[in-house]
Amino acid sequence: MANNLVIRALKANAKSFSLSSKKIDRIPSAVAKFTSLMKLQLNNNCLSTLPIELQSLCHLTELNLGNNVFEEIPQVLRYLPSLRKLYLFGNKIENLPEDAFDGLSKLVLLNVNHNKIRVLPPEIQGLTHLEILSLTDNRLEVIPAEIALLEKLTEINLTNNNLVTLPPQICLLPQLSKLYLARNHLKVLPEGVFRLSKLRVLDVAGNCLAMFPVDFQLIRLEELYCEGNAFVQHELVQSVQEVEVLTLKEQAARLIMMDCRRECSFLRETLQLHPAVACMLSQGGRCALCSQAFLTTWLECVQFVSLRKDMKMRSSQSIPVRALLCSHSCFNQSGHMYYGVGSV
Ligand SMILES: [Zn+2]
Repeated sequence: MANNLVIRALKANAKSFSLSSKKIDRIPSAVAKFTSLMKLQLNNNCLSTLPIELQSLCHLTELNLGNNVFEEIPQVLRYLPSLRKLYLFGNKIENLPEDAFDGLSKLVLLNVNHNKIRVLPPEIQGLTHLEILSLTDNRLEVIPAEIALLEKLTEINLTNNNLVTLPPQICLLPQLSKLYLARNHLKVLPEGVFRLSKLRVLDVAGNCLAMFPVDFQLIRLEELYCEGNAFVQHELVQSVQEVEVLTLKEQAARLIMMDCRRECSFLRETLQLHPAVACMLSQGGRCALCSQAFLTTWLECVQFVSLRKDMKMRSSQSIPVRALLCSHSCFNQSGHMYYGVGSV
């Protein structure tokens, strides 16, 4: 039956052809004669390999291999120069070797949902045109920092994996507008996530987040899904304040950073001669209250941000957002809405 379909489509010089749900475990050899074919659907079959003859499909832009039994990305795909969209969902892929993406640099969409992938190799950086990366329902524990080199990414879907952290470099993706992270084991989101200026949809439901990172409320989100986390609660408890003793290093760093803010700063000029010190000082933060700089000693606080009032979203929910204060003397000032974080 599959062969009859191929012959009919060949006569019609079809641009798009489907052999979906035909229970085939081999591609009819005549498919390789479709040299003008642009879209080929082979999903919902029992395929585990593709014949090398398919490299004749030099105009093929979209290939659906979903719901088959592939254990790897078929080698022949690297010889398809026009391939833009590749669907490999619902297969049996466990490993992506370092050469898995060779020849696929023109892909704009890669969907490998519902496989058993444990490791995403750093060589993913070769997919420089990729806009949508979907890895839902795999077994990933880490994402390589090299993902930040995929500057055209607009959407990443990592729902239902085993992620514990995300690389901070993910905050450098300039076009990212949708980030799906539901049902992982994330305890924190990277600081700097507020730099994702195009981000509009964020799904972190079903993780282990205690709060959102500093300045999270600056993101112009339209949709936020965050139920099922371990957010700190807005409950007042008695606590004892420890005596605050700053190290000499911390005190020196604060003095230098304060001096560097002056218009005529001798120390700022001197720092240019000590790049290692300048680099260390650049890691510091700023007090949410008095905006004084600090290096490694701060007071971790939380503020409860209203999604409606502070982030102009529809929800009436409030979310905990991390805030750092420089000292107890700032914390003890009246009139602010920062709360200390305690474990009960
Ligand atoms: Zn302060």
